Amino acid sequence: MKRIIHFELEEVRAPREAVLDHQGIPEDAEVPHRILALYDDAASQFASLARPRGMIAEISEAEFREVFPGEGNNADDAVVANVFPKADHLALFAATMGGEVSEAIADHFDKNEFALGVMLDAVASMTADRTSEVIADHYHAQLIAEERATPAHHVLGYSPGYCGWHITGQRKLFAYLTPDKIGISLNASCLMNPLKSVSGVLVSGSIDVHVFKAGYSYCPQCRNATCLSRMERLMASERGSA
Ligand code: SF4
Repeated sequence: MKRIIHFELEEVRAPREAVLDHQGIPEDAEVPHRILALYDDAASQFASLARPRGMIAEISEAEFREVFPGEGNNADDAVVANVFPKADHLALFAATMGGEVSEAIADHFDKNEFALGVMLDAVASMTADRTSEVIADHYHAQLIAEERATPAHHVLGYSPGYCGWHITGQRKLFAYLTPDKIGISLNASCLMNPLKSVSGVLVSGSIDVHVFKAGYSYCPQCRNATCLSRMERLMASERGSA
């Protein structure tokens, strides 16, 4: 069954620290007033333009085995290939901030308002990333309500374009999910339109499903190794609930 979710902005909004960190300003740095004013301007524009919404479609392991290989371009050792067979439940997802935000970013660049354009881009990108986590929480809550998972399970998203899952994998993912219903489409290069959108598979299972050693063939080219901080957070939450 497919489910559409309209998010409250406060539910998905990325914190200011995350947006500034994305721009190379660490949390403990003293931030100049003009940067804070720029952030306030961008955050206010984002609040008036964003239309955050998402879509979830459950998929069986057998069906995902058909979707995941995409067009045959995945790395042989793609992370998801190791993760999904151990999952208890799987769902495809997509979410978007809506087209208005992307148009406003392009408009700022067209008018040579680069600083504001870059800041609005960062607010939208970080909020889209956060939406991947929020939609995973929605799916987890659904599984708990239906007594198919417990709070001790973990639901995490994995996306084409990362960790050995080739970006062209989005075509089969989109064919199954049909996120055009929430206004997301793919162009010939498999970029999503609107640009500030995310997609992937939600994987529900025990912590062991999501913990791995980042030593795959493509890891040396990875710039930020986000898997490491994500696994650290996962293990910290497990320790906290013990
Ligand atoms: S190091 Fe980078 S490419 Fe390797 S698993 Fe982690 S996030 Fe993926």
